Amino acid sequence: MTKESRKEILNAVAFGLIINILLATLKLSFGFWGNAQALVSDGVNSLSDVFISIMILAVLKLATKKPDHDHPYGHEKYEGLLYFLLGIIF
Ligand SMILES: [Zn+2]
Repeated sequence: MTKESRKEILNAVAFGLIINILLATLKLSFGFWGNAQALVSDGVNSLSDVFISIMILAVLKLATKKPDHDHPYGHEKYEGLLYFLLGIIF
């Protein structure tokens, strides 16, 4: 993956993360407030989106790191690991 497309993905994921945090907060608070089961489970759904977004951000940040002495060939393999994990989750 090129640096540019990685940056675009980071921006898109960060944007989605903000939206999902807002949505989860709204749905959960209105769900609990109005005792609406459907809203609460919808909010929990948004929370899991938040969790996945944070994971993607963390791994993409890690994957763009320069090689260090623990990982002389760089950190790109973490990116592959992430897609593998996401493939299992979905
Ligand atoms: Zn390392």
